[in-house]
Amino acid sequence: MQVLFGGTFDPVHNGHVVMAESLARAFPGATVHVIPNRQPPHRVSQVSAEHRLSMLSMAMEGIPQITVNAIELDRDGPSYTVDTLGALREQFGAEESLVLCLGADAVQVVDQWHQPEMLVELGHLCILNRANQFIEIPRILDAYQLTENLSDFSNKACGLLARLATPNVPVSSTEVRGLIAKQEPALPVPPKIADYICRHHLYQDTE
Ligand code: ATP
Repeated sequence: MQVLFGGTFDPVHNGHVVMAESLARAFPGATVHVIPNRQPPHRVSQVSAEHRLSMLSMAMEGIPQITVNAIELDRDGPSYTVDTLGALREQFGAEESLVLCLGADAVQVVDQWHQPEMLVELGHLCILNRANQFIEIPRILDAYQLTENLSDFSNKACGLLARLATPNVPVSSTEVRGLIAKQEPALPVPPKIADYICRHHLYQDTE
């Protein structure tokens, strides 16, 4: 089973680390691909993809089952999830169970994605339910078959949807960038990431 957890990771923070650990625990034996995306054109970060990737690799180092996968950085053009799932489907074959993990923020805008109706053909969907908040599932995802049991994902290659209750770590990359700009000394990121940010003078000019 291949589990996909994507994001901008600009920068990676403690919430992302807890989430990766939760996914590894929830899917024993699976490989969890943590996938940094190319910056969408409307969100131009001052920090390069190389720095985001380096920080992500450092933060995920040593967590069992996790692999940082640069598939979207290696591909030209926008990072469409449907393309990433398609590429992994090709790589791992028609029988492999692929699980796309989405946080509440992503689920709410999934109908604005490129070809969202194709996702069900390519993998399962795991909705990350932080602190048991209520997440309404948009109609565009109606084609998925709901299951309570994550272990059902290993019996099929695609088409199931489940929620995973995950811990609440109230932090975002936006908040981290804001704290750095205000020169706050304590950041909600792993210590080696805080060192890296400091050493490379990243995010100093965030507005
Ligand atoms: P930004 O503030 O720049 O929008 P972010 O903190 O939301 O960034 P992303 O890189 O966009 O981080 O998130 C990648 C994935 O991690 C998304 O699925 C998002 O829902 C999830 N995520 C982000 N922050 C947390 C958190 N504190 N706890 C759990 N999951 C999180």
